[in-house]
Amino acid sequence: MAEYHPETQAIRQQMGRTDYREHSEPLFLTSSFTFPTAEIMADTFAGGTEDLIYSRYSNPNTDELIGKVCSLEKADDGFATASGMAAVFASMAAFLHSGDHILASRALFGSTHQLLTQLFPRWGITHTYVDPLDIDNWEKAIQPNTKMLVVESPSNPGLALVDLEKAGQIARRHGLIFNIDNCFATPYIQQPITYGADLVVHSATKWMDGQGRVLGGLVVGKRDLIEQLRFFCRHTGPAMSPFNAWVISKSLETLAVRLERHCSNALTVAQFLEGHPSVARCLYPFLPSHPQYVLAQKQMRWGGGIVTFELTGGVEQGMAFLNALQLCSRSSNLGDTRTIVTHPASTTHARLSEAERLAVGITPGLVRVSVGLEHYTDIVADLQQALDQVQ
Ligand SMILES: *Cc1c(COP(=O)(O)O)cnc(C)c1O
Repeated sequence: MAEYHPETQAIRQQMGRTDYREHSEPLFLTSSFTFPTAEIMADTFAGGTEDLIYSRYSNPNTDELIGKVCSLEKADDGFATASGMAAVFASMAAFLHSGDHILASRALFGSTHQLLTQLFPRWGITHTYVDPLDIDNWEKAIQPNTKMLVVESPSNPGLALVDLEKAGQIARRHGLIFNIDNCFATPYIQQPITYGADLVVHSATKWMDGQGRVLGGLVVGKRDLIEQLRFFCRHTGPAMSPFNAWVISKSLETLAVRLERHCSNALTVAQFLEGHPSVARCLYPFLPSHPQYVLAQKQMRWGGGIVTFELTGGVEQGMAFLNALQLCSRSSNLGDTRTIVTHPASTTHARLSEAERLAVGITPGLVRVSVGLEHYTDIVADLQQALDQVQ
């Protein structure tokens, strides 16, 4: 469906219809598929046909979802996983061997950081962290055994950007697999493959579902890499449930309209917070005060739905602010219709040391707002009354 716009593809790219002529896609809750003869079954198992075998391998609902995300990301192929972290893990473990090294932007999702620092070293896979704001010096950290470049942009929760064009050039020059977590932007805001990314990872739990209902993840990318990844996933078993694929595929039909409103609400919230006296600093990629505003304008279509800000009063004031909220939810998720407020230092990043937190911009008073689809005046009024209470 290359001739249509992404908005149209996300709605009209569908699996084939059954004999019931249903308009909306059916849900295939079946663990396995049948074969008309033993010979066809043997041929399918031998790889002679692409027919459905077993839902750990593939299923019409996950296939439809993968097809849509591949169109949106301009990817050749992909695999859908049970969660975003299953996708992050598979996108690395499928390609790395004992003795390999990862060059990684320091600003990574908390569990991705745990994976690199606590789990991969058990299997002899090491990493070096580099500063997302210092990409011109990244090549100095490349070793003879460096195999993969891992980045997240914008990062969670520090909203640091990685220059995707430069990252793509570095990966190409050194033959590295360029692996990016595009969860915060979604393909509607940026398409990393157009900058040379080889693998694009998503937590579909966030903006893709967009309504806080299901967990899911995806890895999409270059055909030869996805073939290796599919082998890894088929035999390690992180497959997404067909039900979750059905929910997320339906949600993608409204991704573009939802994101436009998330982003316009977020910009309004960011402008309000930036002007408030008890806010020391507000970060949002499309605020001119963001240190990478020019880069954001270049590689992002909108600023995204996440705004972070810093209260001058540290951990105590951060927690008091969360307690003062009346409309916004205290929850760790993001990318929901409902505005969600988190205090990373006491929750998602509490396991990191103070120094590790500061290295990725998580100060004691940092608050993350996932701006929802409520009327923006109601969101701003709730933030305002909570700020007034903790002042
Ligand atoms: C939430 C998140 C993940 C993990 O996704 P889950 O679906 O929770 O496993 C990975 N990367 C980023 C940037 C995230 O925000």
